[in-house]
Amino acid sequence: MTPVTSFTGRTVALFGLGGSGLVTARALLAGGAAVVAFDDKETSRDAATAAGIAVEDLRTSDWSRFDAFVLAPGVPLTHPQPHWSVELARAAGVEIIGDIELFCRERAAVAAAAPLIAITGTNGKSTTTALSAHLVAAAGRDAQMGGNIGTAILALAPPSEARVHVVECSSFQIDLAPSLAPTAGILLNVTPDHLDRHGTMENYAGIKERLVAGASTAIVGVDDDWCRAIADRLAAAGRRVVRISVERRLEEGFWLDGTCLVRAAADGTTTRFELACIGSLRGAHNAQNAAAAIAAVGALGVSDDAIRAGLASFPGLAHRMEQVGRIGRALFVNDSKATNADATEKALASFPGAIHWIVGGTQKEGGIAPLAPYFDRIARAYLVGKSSDDFARTLEGKVDVVRSGTLDEAVPQAAADAAASDAPEPVVLLSPACASYDQFPNFEVRGARFRDLVRALPGLAPIGKD
Ligand code: ADP
Repeated sequence: MTPVTSFTGRTVALFGLGGSGLVTARALLAGGAAVVAFDDKETSRDAATAAGIAVEDLRTSDWSRFDAFVLAPGVPLTHPQPHWSVELARAAGVEIIGDIELFCRERAAVAAAAPLIAITGTNGKSTTTALSAHLVAAAGRDAQMGGNIGTAILALAPPSEARVHVVECSSFQIDLAPSLAPTAGILLNVTPDHLDRHGTMENYAGIKERLVAGASTAIVGVDDDWCRAIADRLAAAGRRVVRISVERRLEEGFWLDGTCLVRAAADGTTTRFELACIGSLRGAHNAQNAAAAIAAVGALGVSDDAIRAGLASFPGLAHRMEQVGRIGRALFVNDSKATNADATEKALASFPGAIHWIVGGTQKEGGIAPLAPYFDRIARAYLVGKSSDDFARTLEGKVDVVRSGTLDEAVPQAAADAAASDAPEPVVLLSPACASYDQFPNFEVRGARFRDLVRALPGLAPIGKD
């Protein structure tokens, strides 16, 4: 844990007692602050009380006694409208911050030069965060990974020059971290998402920009207009910017040449990082993630040889193009996290053909129609879940379809077809383009079921582990 000492002897109000809220309260208490916490949910309040945290209804509190207000990132700060606690804090002139801000202040106070990699973007945050932390650890350094990816930032070991913190930041977290100034800041991409919580694209992109604007080295994917403009603005302001493109060649920065990332330096020299043999990093989208992670750890002094070794041993993230195993030439891939057509497009684009595609569930608006450009890569589609009728209609006459109904039926059917295929690498791909709620509690349970079914197939050679 990182005890928070910036509020020693003072009183902090806190709303939101989910996982990170509890950790924040404990970190503040450990640093000698008084904490007054609240949550709408009774179970959360009870859990806090049981953990020795003072709970008080903040609606009736005297806010003049609070020196700061810590808000959980899931609670609306601005859109669709500020939460009542935000209104009360503002009316009382109490600053509103989040747990990442508390960490940043601690870092500034105790180890200002402690290496910090912060990652944001609409897509690819978790992959890039996990890969960056893996590259740091593979180089023999202490990597502390957390933030939006799972472990609350204040649950990590305290900042120190001897360890590297790798922190995934959602826009909500950036919004609550005004002094975020990472050693290396990564902005992967900006596409419309969560606009219900950010109002406009301008506002959403503006929040994301703050993470890289405060960074000593700003690493920016420049394949969308928003990020390109951000990179140009930072460069014009004299900031150190590393640009990444997986769509076109860059004079300086990282670009993708086939399956090889090229790092082009200002003096014209180039260095290459081959991704072809790294199954966990298939696809141009993962090349963007890999380039960002390479640039970040490179900025921290990790050598190119150590980076290459780390890339080769990256296991990937569960449920995101996760390679489960092989039977002969056939590869089994769990992409259960792909809950919409956009995410599934990335998966289909990662394989040249012979895809045995398990698809369906609770469909999103537009269904799988946007995936039509990839239909010729599909050997057969195995329809599961509630969307089966609609998807059968979309695929009719274009893709050979089996109505499997459930994963339990689909996996052995797809495995048998893949075994009979004479393609060099037939792929059995679960990439549902749908939420899982019709048949599973969440995408993790769906992916775990797929993994179990695949591992039970005769002759399976597993890849990696859970
Ligand atoms: P996030 O943490 O931002 O949600 P993840 O790393 O968990 O991102 O990846 C989620 C999904 O987003 C992946 O399964 C893939 O379909 C897609 N994706 C990953 N990286 C990128 C990227 N750089 N650009 C676009 N889409 C991506």
